Amino acid sequence: MWTEQNAPALVTSGEPPLVQNFLLRMLPRRDLQRLYPMLQRSTLTPRRVLQHAGVPIEHVYFIEDGLVSVLANADERHAVEVCLIGREGVVGGAALLGVRSSPLRHFVQIGGDALRIRVEDLKRAACEMPQLRALLHSCLHGFLMQSSQSAACSLSHSLSQRLARWLLMAQDRSGRDEIPITQELLARSLGVRRATVSEAFKPLESRGIFSKDRGLIRILDRKRLEEIACRCYRLMRLKKESPAKSNGRDRFYALSIFCALLEIESLVY
Ligand SMILES: [Zn+2]
Repeated sequence: MWTEQNAPALVTSGEPPLVQNFLLRMLPRRDLQRLYPMLQRSTLTPRRVLQHAGVPIEHVYFIEDGLVSVLANADERHAVEVCLIGREGVVGGAALLGVRSSPLRHFVQIGGDALRIRVEDLKRAACEMPQLRALLHSCLHGFLMQSSQSAACSLSHSLSQRLARWLLMAQDRSGRDEIPITQELLARSLGVRRATVSEAFKPLESRGIFSKDRGLIRILDRKRLEEIACRCYRLMRLKKESPAKSNGRDRFYALSIFCALLEIESLVY
């Protein structure tokens, strides 16, 4: 029986592996081909806890599809979302900083899949591949900045602004126009009651900015949603340069947070 524990590592036939994770796509081709056999595909089932708080980190997950919410405990009963991770990032990256566990819980908000690697294998690879190391460090810095900005946002901006920001970030990171999330989970992400989110939905829905149906939110007017979102979105958005500007090569900025992250040419697929 196939399980994640006995799943074979991926193999490559010499062609560049097809990957969706932005960090993997930004690696030089030779590095990706060396790293790829150490990766295992892992299914991200909605509501799965990918990394429990306080439990030793065994794997780092490069998210290929889906969305992971990072939660900090506010008290024994409540947790607050401090970060969203999608195709631009990894879960478990704190292990690269030398810590054995994280106090944060990593919860699959939108299902999909990931490529995971054992922490020891990734540490060894990062020592041998300077660009992999630089990308992972940039990613960790991005998460730190996103967490800090999320805290400022919660204290400073209205629920409508934060709701718009969350939907835009979820769309960017999952690559989907339809976001499968219930109002209950969205309320938890925003740190408010379900009824409060329901009230915030009404004016946006009546203006045709999005529609919702049975746990699925469909974004209909992204431009207006961007106008409503607070300025935090501009600091936390993902950005991809147009092919015309990048001389035909894909060129990604993993995150544009405070203009702090690397710009690295990716492979051409
Ligand atoms: Zn904000």
